[in-house]
Amino acid sequence: MIDIHTHLGRIALNEPAVDEHELLRRMDELGIERTAVLPLISPETGFFPSTTEKVLEVYCRHPDRIIPFCNLDPRNGGNSPDTDFSKVLKEYKEAGCKGVGELTANLYIDDPRYMNLFYQCGKAHLPVLFHLAVKVGGVYGPADDKGLPRLEKVLSKLPDTIFIGHAMGFWSEISSKVDEKTRGGYPKGPIKSPGRVPYLLKKYPNLYGDLSAGSGFNAISRDPEYGYKFLEEFQDKLLFGTDICHVNQDVPIVPYLKNALKEGKISRTAFEKITRKNAEKVLNL
Ligand SMILES: [Zn+2]
Repeated sequence: MIDIHTHLGRIALNEPAVDEHELLRRMDELGIERTAVLPLISPETGFFPSTTEKVLEVYCRHPDRIIPFCNLDPRNGGNSPDTDFSKVLKEYKEAGCKGVGELTANLYIDDPRYMNLFYQCGKAHLPVLFHLAVKVGGVYGPADDKGLPRLEKVLSKLPDTIFIGHAMGFWSEISSKVDEKTRGGYPKGPIKSPGRVPYLLKKYPNLYGDLSAGSGFNAISRDPEYGYKFLEEFQDKLLFGTDICHVNQDVPIVPYLKNALKEGKISRTAFEKITRKNAEKVLNL
């Protein structure tokens, strides 16, 4: 399996950092051969940035297990929609980085500064992974409104950039039944009619879904029958991930997907694409 989403470093004040030994130990335990490690650098995210340089150091020690991402904040380099990110992206790509993210700057996702960064990531052939927030202020991540109109605008304006969607603001829209109260959380219950996420995944070849964290797992497991159908239907657009960022973190998606395969709820083809082949394609491995 290839995990599209993990972190290294200290996330919260009162808990130990996930170091490379803990990450590799969990990967061995869960049967994950390679994992993308995403730096976190925007001030909204936490007190302790986890830098691209640190991820690259760990990658150099474990090049067969770690897939490094780089991270940039759209406000880096002068807080302007005209900042030239091309040189830094080239430098990071040459150092081995396979994607950009997890993007957590809390601006609207169609803010000109984000559009500029997204455009340049597309030109550099680096996919972007974003944590979708439901508002500006009090949270982290690029923000959108209910129904994800801004994300749709971004996807259609920047067809050469690959976007990987993550977090509650994204996955709560798997169902059309979502409102201002539930869209920032983990809505439960059956999915009677598909929402904006399936619509956008179907319509835009440049959008993928990151199944990591409570948000991705909730989306595919809240209504298991719909979830299996969704995994099968979007087998070319989904990426397995854990979002490991705590020591001994619970990772229910691993047994869930393995059982779904064992019990014949999803095909082996879908399982292999979601847990490995799509990542190889999107990250150019
Ligand atoms: Zn994350």
